[in-house]
Amino acid sequence: MKLSTYHSHSVFCDGKNTAEEMLLRAIELGCPEYGFSGHVYSQGDDEWCISKDGMPEYRREVLRLKEKYKDKIKVFLGIEYDYLSCEPTEPYDYVIGSVHTLLKDGVRAEVDGGTYESRLENVKKLWGGDPYAFVEDYFLAISDIYNKTCCDVIGHFDIVNKFNQKERMFDEKHPRYVAAATAALDKLLLTPAVFEFNTGGAYRGYRDNFYPNDFLLERIALAKKPMLITSDTHCTDSLLFGYEAAVKKLDAFGIKYLTSMDDVLEITR
Ligand SMILES: [Zn+2]
Ligand SMILES: [Zn+2]
Repeated sequence: MKLSTYHSHSVFCDGKNTAEEMLLRAIELGCPEYGFSGHVYSQGDDEWCISKDGMPEYRREVLRLKEKYKDKIKVFLGIEYDYLSCEPTEPYDYVIGSVHTLLKDGVRAEVDGGTYESRLENVKKLWGGDPYAFVEDYFLAISDIYNKTCCDVIGHFDIVNKFNQKERMFDEKHPRYVAAATAALDKLLLTPAVFEFNTGGAYRGYRDNFYPNDFLLERIALAKKPMLITSDTHCTDSLLFGYEAAVKKLDAFGIKYLTSMDDVLEITR
């Protein structure tokens, strides 16, 4: 069964290729389906989100492509919703709920964007130099993502460790990390939303493994929850990046993976 991706970006937000180029690449790769999930407009995060005016344009273009290529591929109009966004979630076939930014004492602090250095700086400035306090605030926000968005898919759970390759900022087995991540995971496991197994961070070289961490995969396996493999692709080169390794890993953990967005929606809607 050929897999596809439902987590993808284009020039409407921070992707490198047009929506049509992305879709043509998916067709070329033989994907039976494709899901667009541009970053929803979120005031204050204009750099990497679809603009306010761009939102209807994004929907129009995806629907145009859906119609144009309907004999070749099944297209879904999705959105990657951000925790801080206030846009409606209704116009979409599915919603990915993610935390990219935290609001700390009225200041926006990146969880996804920025650099290792900017992250250290924020931890110092906003969390008194305690990286676990930052980690705890991330997991508290993501634990609330279903309440906030009624999302179908939980986006890159665990992305707080994006710049933590070789654990240079904090220990991912530290009791405070494990406690915060486990509490958030357990809360979300009670919702119908599906966790994605996201290969995007590895493609961009931020880390060797995919989101989420192994100890969290173990818990998802115990809960017998299926996952959705996604590439969080921002260009045609990474459309199915890491899928073979991702399949192998989920197989090793005994986790079933979903192969169609309709299967996801059957669980979540
Ligand atoms: Zn994201
Ligand atoms: Zn994304």
